Formats: sequence, C-alpha cells, structure tokens
Amino acid sequence: PGQQAAHDPAKKTVVVLGSGWAATSLLKKLDTEYFNVVVISPHNYFLFTPLLPSVSVGTLEPRSIIQPTRYITRHKKRRVEVYEGEARSVDVKNKTVTFVDNSDIKGAVSATTIPYDYLVYAVGAENQTFGIPGVREHSCFLKELPDAEKLRTRLMDCVETAAFKGQEDAEIDRLMHIMVVGGGPTGVEFAGELHDFLVDDLQSWYPELANRLKISLIEALPNVLPVFSKQLIQYTESTFKANKIDILTRTMVKEVKEKTVVVQDESKQLKEIPYGMLVWAAGNTSRQITRDLMAQLPDVQNQRRGLLVDEYLRLLGGDGVFALGDCTATSYAPTAQVASQQGAYIARALEQMAKKEQLEKTLHSLRASSNSKPEEIEAVVKQINKVSKIKPFHYSHQGSLAYIGSEKAVADLPFFNGNLATGGVATFLFWRSAYISNLLSARNRFLVLNDWMKVKLFGRDVSRE
Ligand code: FAD
Ligand code: NAD
Repeated sequence: PGQQAAHDPAKKTVVVLGSGWAATSLLKKLDTEYFNVVVISPHNYFLFTPLLPSVSVGTLEPRSIIQPTRYITRHKKRRVEVYEGEARSVDVKNKTVTFVDNSDIKGAVSATTIPYDYLVYAVGAENQTFGIPGVREHSCFLKELPDAEKLRTRLMDCVETAAFKGQEDAEIDRLMHIMVVGGGPTGVEFAGELHDFLVDDLQSWYPELANRLKISLIEALPNVLPVFSKQLIQYTESTFKANKIDILTRTMVKEVKEKTVVVQDESKQLKEIPYGMLVWAAGNTSRQITRDLMAQLPDVQNQRRGLLVDEYLRLLGGDGVFALGDCTATSYAPTAQVASQQGAYIARALEQMAKKEQLEKTLHSLRASSNSKPEEIEAVVKQINKVSKIKPFHYSHQGSLAYIGSEKAVADLPFFNGNLATGGVATFLFWRSAYISNLLSARNRFLVLNDWMKVKLFGRDVSRE
C-alpha cells in the first residue's frame, strides 16, 4: 500500500538472485528510492538456516523458521518485483538474466530474460558430494527446508519399520543406525538434535527400540568442528561420548549403497557398515549456474571453490555484477554472518553509487547554466567526493556458536581482543537467546518460542507425515 509503481525507466535496475542470507540482508537495507529492484529466487521465502537441524527431528516446525520475501519487500518505499523462479543463466556481456518457473504449476509463460544494470549474485551453494558413488541416490541432505522435512519423515519411517511385527534383530539394528557424514557444524548439530529426540521422545514412545538407536558421525579429518578452538572440540567430543554418539574420525566415506556404506579407516582398511538412514553433511560446492558463469570468464574465474571477487565484492570480469555469500571463493568461511554483512555492505555501496550519479547530473546542469554560483558547484563537487569514497568490504566476526545436544552448546566468542571459548548449559541458553533475537520477524520469534514450549510440555510429534 502506498508503494509507487515498480519500474521507472529513469532509474537503474538492480536484479537480485536469491532470497537467502546475503540477498535478504541486502533487501532489508537497500533504499529502493534509487533503483528498480527485481528479486528472483526458486523459493519465495528466506530460510533461517541455523535452526534447520531442529526441524529435522521435529523440535521446530518448518514454517516457524521461514519468512516470505514479500514480508520484507512490502515495507519498501517503492515496489520491488519478486519472482519465484530459478535463474538458469547470466549473460555478463549483454547484462541479462534468464530465469524459469520450475514449480509444478506453469502458466503460458514459464521462461523469460530480463536486463540488469547491476546484478547481485547470491545464489548460495549446493551439497558437495565429491562424485562419491551413491551419495545423491541414497543420502539425505540438510541444506534446504524440504531436506529437513524429508529427514524427519525418513527417521520416523526407520523407527516404524524397525517396530514392524516380526522384524529380525539384525534388521532392527540396521534400521536404527543413523549415520552422519561430515563433522562440520551441520553434522554435529544434527547428531546433537537426534540425540535429544532419542532421549526425550523415543524412550517414551518406543521404549522397546530406544536403546537400539545408534548414531555414528564420520569425519575424514582428525577431529570434528575444525573451525572451533581445541578446548571446544574436546568438550564436544566428550559430550558426544557421554551421549553414546560414536565419532569415527580419520574415516572417509568411499561409497554409499542402498543399505550399507563403504568407509576407509585410518589404516586404509575398507569396511562396509549397515545403516537405516545416512545424512550427508560434507560441505559446499558451486551450483551449475555458477559454474556456467565461471566458464564465460575463463581468464579470471579459475577457482573451482567459487566466484572470485575483488575487495568491493565486484565479480572479476563481470561489469556491474556483485557476488556475495556462499557462491564466492574468498578468505571468509561460508557462513550466514559473512553473507549478511556482505548484503548490507552492497546495499550501502549501491546507494552511494546512485547518489554519486544523481550529484553528477546536478553538477552537469549547474555547469551548463550561466546562473550557477561557484560555491554551489563547489558544494556539489565536495558531496561527489564524499560519496565516491566506497570502502572495501570489512568483515566483523561476532563469534561461532553450535548446538551439540542435551541442552549444551559451544561458543567461540571474540571478546576483549581475546577469545572466549565456552560450552555447556549457560551457553545453550545464550545460543537460544542469540537465535531468538536474530530471527527476522516478531512472527518467527513467536512461532519458535511456541514450538520450544510445545516440545517441553508434550514432547515431539512422532507422527509420520
Ligand atoms: P543461501 O542462504 O543458501 O541463499 C541462496 C539463495 O539463492 C536461496 O534463497 C536459494 O533459493 C536461491 N537460489 C538457488 N539457486 C538459485 C538460482 N538458480 N536462481 C536464483 N536463486 C537461486 N552460518 C552461520 O553463520 N551460523 C549458523 O549457525 C549456520 N547454521 C547453518 C546450519 C545449516 C543446517 C546450514 C545448511 C548452514 C548453516 N550456516 C550457518 C551457513 C549459512 O546458512 C550459509 O553460509 C548462508 O546461508 C549463505 O548465505 P547465501 O545468501 O550465500 O546463500
Ligand atoms: P563443512 O565444510 O564445515 O564440514 C564438512 C565436513 O565433512 C568436513 O569436516 C570434511 O572433512 C568432512 N568430509 C567431507 N567429505 C567427507 C567424506 N567423504 N567422509 C568423511 N568426512 C568427509 O560443512 P558444513 O558443516 O555443512 O558447514 C558449511 C558451512 O556452514 C561452514 O562454513 C559452517 O561454518 C557453516 N555452518 C555453521 C553453523 C554454525 O555456526 N552453527 C552450522 C552449520 C553450518
């Protein structure tokens, strides 16, 4: 309501690809007064990824941690065009984006190409499988909302199948063996949540099966959570040990079969381990559209890890393109913290660029007019100099937090120029309050608090949808 018409031919067009951390942070900050803004994403919502592991075991409901992108854009000064679509290609030479409607229901038009003046490229990354056979076919992932919903359903399917009348012992053990591959924060948080589900719910609803549930965490490196401090790694490993989560470090997955996984241990021995559900959390790789974009710029884009940008987040070789978040290869970790700070930075940079352009136009007409006073011209020149000074992107690290189960969390917090490494129940309460205060809207806060209370009072819902 009250928003002006979307497209103004006198203004430049910013096309934003994605509705994740980087894109959403940009949209929140961007002053739409200066630009026509178009957002394209296959999901018409923002997903609060830090709480995604909680959805996979039913601690939180899926809709509690998402927010429609239109909730943000509707408050903007000028109307923002939001399209649910998947960008298929970017033409950096002609400055266009082609996108398609990849949802089930399609209209007469389901593909189109639009021009941009500036492109904010924030499509994130996809799951890294290293081409290991069987991973795509037989694993579950934990990256997007449908992944967590599928995990929850599969988990209950394993439990119910294990409870099926006459099920044999060895088969029960297989079905109740949940393997998590990847000891990064995603794998660790999922294993922790799964342990809570076992203790809080499985023991009351399936007492005959609860002690058969086995959780194994496989990690190729010598320890889990490599980015955390040594003390917190030890704390996590001892908490997992107490919670009977088996950690297999220095162990590489070589192949995933339908019911077993082939691993290679430290002594290069191959072992085949039966499992009921396997969760693949082995990190990120570039999306196809990103690889295609790199292929257009082979001289400058030669990093498989992601897009190369300069210190102002400008895509190397791409005029008018800014790349941010997980799709880039920088010295920063692929985290929500980095992506959201980059989004806010680009919003400010774009605003400065637009202001500069406006001032240059004013200067041009002042210089062309015989009535202009020199002080007037000088004042405008000063303003131009001011807005021309765009500083390089600077990341400010607020700390790392991870939930490890049984109401414990670990936190590496950069305080007073030193580091505070903390673990335990107080850290867990801090983890909860940090996430609650970070959740985008009052509506999300309400829903998450409500879910936490519901689980405390009634336990998790074990129905299989
Ligand atoms: P994303 O947030 O992934 O957003 C990418 C967007 O692009 C999505 O909206 C997607 O739908 C869209 N998209 C995809 N393909 C296309 C296309 N072809 N065209 C247009 N749009 C497209 N980080 C932290 O700092 N703290 C945490 O606690 C934390 N917890 C996490 C927990 C989990 C389970 C996971 C998976 C990640 C977690 N992360 C955390 C990492 C964090 O989520 C990512 O670093 C962050 O999402 C990166 O932001 P992004 O905007 O680059 O990508
Ligand atoms: P990651 O890249 O951090 O960890 C993946 C792990 O899988 C690595 O330790 C790797 O050694 C291991 N691995 C890879 N292939 C393997 C194989 N074949 N066999 C055994 N192990 C294998 O991935 P992630 O945990 O998904 O995290 C991705 C990004 O998101 C990171 O930057 C992380 O910091 C961020 N994140 C942060 C949080 C948090 O702060 N709470 C939570 C989740 C994710």
